[in-house]
Formats: sequence, structure tokens, C-alpha cells
Amino acid sequence: MKRGYFVDNGDEDDGGFAVVAPTAKEAKKIVYESGELIFGDTDWIAIRTHWIRDAAVIGLPIGMVTDCRDALIRGLYGSLMEYPCDKCGKDLDLTCYHGQALCSCCIEKEYKKEVQQSTKQKGIDNTQSRIREMSERLRELCEHSPTYPIPKHE
Ligand SMILES: [Zn+2]
Repeated sequence: MKRGYFVDNGDEDDGGFAVVAPTAKEAKKIVYESGELIFGDTDWIAIRTHWIRDAAVIGLPIGMVTDCRDALIRGLYGSLMEYPCDKCGKDLDLTCYHGQALCSCCIEKEYKKEVQQSTKQKGIDNTQSRIREMSERLRELCEHSPTYPIPKHE
């Protein structure tokens, strides 16, 4: 049995790590022993595990998920901080949108395109209100989702 976990030090601002493990205790152990914790004096007690029930962990080995983008697409991360966007390539905060890792700008563009297409089909002009709705949802998503600390990809 494999599960996806998001492991952090209990401080939302610091982000955390995506881990595949059979149990929460194992997930905690993997992160602790990796020495990857960049949270300073984080000790065993402070480490928190969150089981991400919807994460797609099929095909992933037990351990830390090293491919951050993959972890985002699989739902292990809610967002990535300062990571290159699939579309514009800029280092920005990304969320997963239709299987792509996109910045909020590109998601908005994508969404606008979709809304315009569907409005054309339906002949209804509610584009503006739907775009506003989407921006609201995005903001909520960014505020409430776990994030990864700034990745070392340079
Ligand atoms: Zn972008």
C-alpha cells in the first residue's frame, strides 16, 4: 500500500515535501532521515504529515518525490513556488491546470480561451463574470494549498 504525503514542520509559510510512503510514520521518517529539512532546527516532534488522499502515486517509488513538477501534476503539491511555468517559462508560483504546471497569468489566459469558446457555442455572453469567478477560485487555491520551498533547480 502506497500513499502520498505532504510533510512539513507545521509552519505553512515554510512549505514542505512530497513523500510516497506506506504510512504517515514512514513518511515522517523518510523526510527526517533525508536531512533535506531546510527549516533550521526542525526536530522530530515538529514534523507534520498530511495524507493527500487524491494524489496519484501509482508508479512512484517509496521515498521523497524529487520531480517537483511531477508532484504538482499528481496532486501531491497544491502549488510550486518560483518554478518555471510550462507555457511562459518564467519562474513563478505555479498550480496545476488541466495537467499542466502553469502560473496564474497563463491559467487565466487558458481559461479565457475556454470561456470564449464555450460562450461562442452557447451564444451567451457571461465571459467577464466567469473570468472573475475563476480568479477568485485561483486566489483561494493559492492561499489554502501546501507549497514547496523554493526548489534548487538552478
Ligand atoms: Zn506562465
